[in-house]
Amino acid sequence: MSAPEQRVPSTAVTWRRDLHAHPEVGFTEFRTASRIAGRLTDLGWQVVTGPAAMPPQARLGVPDADELEATYARAVDDGGDPRFLPAMRGGHTAVVATLGSGGRHVAVRADIDALPIAETEDAAHPPVAAGFASRRPGVMHACGHDGHVGIAMELAERLSADPPAGRVSLVFQPAEEGGRGGAAVAASGLLDDVDLLVALHLGLDLPTGAVLPANDGLLANSKIRAVFRGRAAHAALDPQEGRNALLGAASATLALQGLTRVAGHATRVSVGRISGGTSSNIVPDTAEMLLEVRADDGEVNADLEQRARAMLEGAARMHGLEVDIERIGSVTTATADPAAVAAVVAAAEASGLTIAASAGSSVASDDATALMRRVQAHGGVATYVGLGSTLASGHHTRAFDIDEAALPLGVDLLERLVRAGKR
Ligand SMILES: [Zn+2]
Ligand SMILES: [Zn+2]
Repeated sequence: MSAPEQRVPSTAVTWRRDLHAHPEVGFTEFRTASRIAGRLTDLGWQVVTGPAAMPPQARLGVPDADELEATYARAVDDGGDPRFLPAMRGGHTAVVATLGSGGRHVAVRADIDALPIAETEDAAHPPVAAGFASRRPGVMHACGHDGHVGIAMELAERLSADPPAGRVSLVFQPAEEGGRGGAAVAASGLLDDVDLLVALHLGLDLPTGAVLPANDGLLANSKIRAVFRGRAAHAALDPQEGRNALLGAASATLALQGLTRVAGHATRVSVGRISGGTSSNIVPDTAEMLLEVRADDGEVNADLEQRARAMLEGAARMHGLEVDIERIGSVTTATADPAAVAAVVAAAEASGLTIAASAGSSVASDDATALMRRVQAHGGVATYVGLGSTLASGHHTRAFDIDEAALPLGVDLLERLVRAGKR
């Protein structure tokens, strides 16, 4: 054959494209996580997964049992690794893999979940053009987490081939979107003796080749589901017998817009969804609200969450309703340690990357902060690194696409960090 030589895609690109075609949302990453666990086991890493890597009760916003079972069955039929799937059944999809023993312990966090977004079908969209667009309607890797896994898997291969001194852990975290998995992985305790933790995120409106060594602009948030329960009645014949759950949700929505401002802090409040009721002539007896508060400080956010809960309870009382309030996601803030930032700067410079002073636009929130706080509380250092990747479209949009040229740069950067001497 005299056809032009085909370039063999790198491990990072191969994994990224496979995951892009098979996206899985938070706690349903059965195919993704089992394949990661299988490959790392084959490479000689010690793998912890299932409930040991993420205490079940510490998870937030877990999908219902039907969705967990349906997505599990799909993974069984669609390339999930049968050695690891059973331990993950029910949504226990964290994987923590470790190479080496003793000495300095460096950990790298990669989040693995996709989003409930329908990928564009535009023929010019690179995943469509190259044949690796999402095969799952309404689900898409639209934040770059497929790339994070790709980087980590190529890093794993390099480190297996030439093991570094000390210990390395790769932390594959489920359900980052919505802030539902990070605190649970932290609660596993598997990272308590980590000396340096790096959480890396692609994009953030930084160009390919740039690195942001710390991103302290992350917002804390609390995501809440509130369900108002009242009493149905005929809206014309006996309206006075009803207890109108939609009025409770509507009153709470208006009240929440008046949530206090906090001097010296950026805050947000959003009611993103209200639903309820049955028909135009029936007083609605149930209503569900999905809302969130955010702040640039974890403690300010916690205060806003308490005030928001009081508003929900007050609205329920005003209309004679019961209200169940459930926290379905929560992210705190964390501050990078100077020693961790210095290590990233040194590795980035040695890799020929440019240092960015700030993100083009910050990622709104990331529950890597729970892992960072856990490591810091046990004497280690941590930072949240932005890895530039020129984007086709913003995070969480249908035409989102990373620049794959950023993937080997991420592998180089992390490999240097892992192999660097004592900090
Ligand atoms: Zn995201
Ligand atoms: Zn993300």
